[in-house]
Amino acid sequence: MPPVFRFAPSPNGYLHLGHALSALLNAEAARASGGRMLLRIEDIDETRCRPEYEAAIYEDLAWLGVTWEQPVRRQSEHLDDYRAAIDRLDAMGLIYPAFESRTEIARLVAEREAISGQAWPRDPDGGIRYPEFSKSLPEPERRRLIEAGAPYARRLDMTAALVRSGPLQWDEAGKMVAADPAAWGDVILARKDTPNSYHLSVVIDDAQQGVTDIVRGRDLFHSTSVHRLLQTLLGLPAPRYHHHRLILDADGRKLSKSTAATGLRELRGQGLTPSDIRRMAGLD
Ligand code: GLU
Repeated sequence: MPPVFRFAPSPNGYLHLGHALSALLNAEAARASGGRMLLRIEDIDETRCRPEYEAAIYEDLAWLGVTWEQPVRRQSEHLDDYRAAIDRLDAMGLIYPAFESRTEIARLVAEREAISGQAWPRDPDGGIRYPEFSKSLPEPERRRLIEAGAPYARRLDMTAALVRSGPLQWDEAGKMVAADPAAWGDVILARKDTPNSYHLSVVIDDAQQGVTDIVRGRDLFHSTSVHRLLQTLLGLPAPRYHHHRLILDADGRKLSKSTAATGLRELRGQGLTPSDIRRMAGLD
């Protein structure tokens, strides 16, 4: 079976040099190994994704010389698959509803920090690790809140999940590294308004598309711990991973939005060629 690679951008902005690096590394690895190259549009966040950004992804990638198989998978067309996975985890007793808003969690944690004089643990992205406020709610109280229409997120019970999975690791560019999903705490797998989260959908998509090799930026390195856990709980295969270097801006921060200095459309508009982009991305 040939290896299967994928590039999976979110259409919530225009592509920049960092995306170009990822797309080109995937396309080249596929070519070099006689593998397949897929493109996936990660468009579950309806508030931030726009059709014009999706159209721009196709245009910018084609200009760069990246080719991919049809049809392109769009996450928004697979919500039922994500819902089914959540239901399976729920049936295993690994999911619970959490009713606090982000603001409320921040306020409650700040109060605790003020009282204890100690910083509450953060997750690998620097976010507050969820203090499991809703985990111990008695079942009748949960039911009452849900029936009253209280908004909630569905969180993974990390402790229970790890008991089930045991220790985990993954293949990072040929070396096994230990996964540490506990660092993330009880991650959100679905919000009331969106039936899934990045972590859940990426794992389902990669399995359904038969992806064998995940080449993506180092900013997602720690997320792989959660992905390995979900793959194990759901009985999905473990892909190989390679988290590549990031392209940083002049201030040393990872590129976030497309700007005149790094946006592919802007650079193209300035008369730069695809080989200029490869050079700027440090590929030649
Ligand atoms: N959609 C994610 C992003 O644009 C990438 C997901 C992945 O490669 O696993 O950052």
